[in-house]
Amino acid sequence: MSSIEIRSRPILAVDVDGVISLFGFEEPPERAPCRFQLIDGMAHCISLEAGERLRRLAPHYEMVWATGWEDRANEYLLQLLGLNMLPVIRFGGDARFGSAHWKLGPISSYAAGRRLAWIDDSLDDECHAWARARPEPTLLVPTDPARGLEDAQVDLLIDWAPGSPG
Ligand SMILES: [Mg+2]
Repeated sequence: MSSIEIRSRPILAVDVDGVISLFGFEEPPERAPCRFQLIDGMAHCISLEAGERLRRLAPHYEMVWATGWEDRANEYLLQLLGLNMLPVIRFGGDARFGSAHWKLGPISSYAAGRRLAWIDDSLDDECHAWARARPEPTLLVPTDPARGLEDAQVDLLIDWAPGSPG
């Protein structure tokens, strides 16, 4: 891949809760679609398939953490997911579980002038209005927090990235 192609890759903003750390699933804990891990004293159910799926996306995007986990995502998740260290968008303590519009200002600044895809389980009307108003191509990819990142969303994201056949 040439340096021009690398520079032209879109940004992919990646949430953690509801994308990688699952919740709200109906299976009993022993049949959960994820593995329980004690992280910072809290039990999180980490989708191990999310790691393989993010690794499929890595050649197509410049990935960045966009999560209230901030640096804790690099600290705790890289080994579980088989990922390299990612840049971190900072939210200055504005994180609110169960919504995502508080991420808009920092994501806007980070991705200014760039194509952007954003995977998140809490995309709300404000996020969709913001995406429509962005001058650059913008793709919002919602997830079900009980399932996290799934193959269909990975396929969609790969199709949307420049240089993908079809
Ligand atoms: Mg979330």
